Amino acid sequence: MFDLIIKNATLPDETSRADIACVDGHIAAIEPHIAAQAQEVVEADGYLVSPPFVDPHFHMDATLSLGQPRMNVSGTLLEGIALWGELKPIQSVDDIITRALRYCDLAVSMGLGAIRSHVDVCDDDLKGVQALLEVKKQVAPYLDLQLVAFPQDGVLRDPTAMQNLLRALDMGVDIVGGIPHFERTMADGAESVRQLCEIAAERGLMVDMHCDESDDPLSRHIETLAFETRRLGLQGRVTGSHLTSMHSMDNYYVSKLIPLMVEAGVHAIPNPLINIMLQGRHDTYPKRRGQTRVPQLRDAGITVGFGSDCVMDPWYSLGRADMLDVAAMGLHVGQLSSRADMAWCFDAVTANSAAIMGLEGYGIAKGNKANMVLLQAQDKIEAIRLRAHRLAVIRAGRVIARNAPVVTDLMLPGRPPHVNAASYAPKPAKT
Ligand SMILES: [Zn+2]
Repeated sequence: MFDLIIKNATLPDETSRADIACVDGHIAAIEPHIAAQAQEVVEADGYLVSPPFVDPHFHMDATLSLGQPRMNVSGTLLEGIALWGELKPIQSVDDIITRALRYCDLAVSMGLGAIRSHVDVCDDDLKGVQALLEVKKQVAPYLDLQLVAFPQDGVLRDPTAMQNLLRALDMGVDIVGGIPHFERTMADGAESVRQLCEIAAERGLMVDMHCDESDDPLSRHIETLAFETRRLGLQGRVTGSHLTSMHSMDNYYVSKLIPLMVEAGVHAIPNPLINIMLQGRHDTYPKRRGQTRVPQLRDAGITVGFGSDCVMDPWYSLGRADMLDVAAMGLHVGQLSSRADMAWCFDAVTANSAAIMGLEGYGIAKGNKANMVLLQAQDKIEAIRLRAHRLAVIRAGRVIARNAPVVTDLMLPGRPPHVNAASYAPKPAKT
């Protein structure tokens, strides 16, 4: 007797259909026809079953705070940071917990199974840290939440940021963050990278820095991040988030830089929705796109995962926890239009991001965790094209969210049968 069987699912490799049986929170069998009984059966009807979406870059302490205490009028990164500075002193730990839990519910309903959230430590009360550690505990049964100690105002620029960051790590925050391009000088930025990587090395932690989120081609902190990663033996544990300055860098310099990143095993997390919204703001025309060099990084062998970064907060007033929106934007901005490239964009919001986060037992394979999402799409590309409906979200072998199928005649060849276009045709003029 199994706990759950998903019948007739298209597997992520898209070459075969199978039944997936789950027991004790794990995938017990993947076979063409499983005849055994199960407590619960989900009919996939040939639709795609994917491992859950993974968001490797988010700000859960700020999410759903849109309009508090005011809107970001210029729409820029810097006004967003200033606005967040106005909200921090007037929000409570409970405010942050309420918003974050609401977001987690939304995220799970959209098929997200894991989120890496930065949490601002530039607050002497560490309200965000207190709140998100509590949220992490509460959501653990249904959502993996990793927390990054993020010194939003600069770990060297803000007088108490370093001690607060260390306190946050002592309290149980998982990962060391940073923001070298926001320090006062390039030299301070490089020094911040050195100090933060040393903290990670001493404590055996991962590193994930907001790195070069700028249109300045001379913002080269990723070079220092790769150098320190290698010097301290942190290969495979370090991520550069955003890396937007790379969009504007000199090609010759990039031809030297990317091999250094490969050598250091540094991962990359572009955030397509936010990067296309915030970068190029000082340009007239032509306007730069700002997204880092996704195909070049990928082709060099760097693990690239797409993050969503923000949903309804001081930096971004849209968003709905839909990683397929993120994949679609990354696809368009990166001009990743071949069939293989489009399918890769789906991997960038699933398997690649899971690898960056170091998630164990991830993926549709026997013995792995029975965490899945059933999408109303026939393959990865169709999932992105349609922002596919989530028919069922499965965690530890139990259905935790379910939606009825929607009418999606866009999937079928021929004309949608429920549209009578002829009735809208212009009537012949009366003579
Ligand atoms: Zn961010």
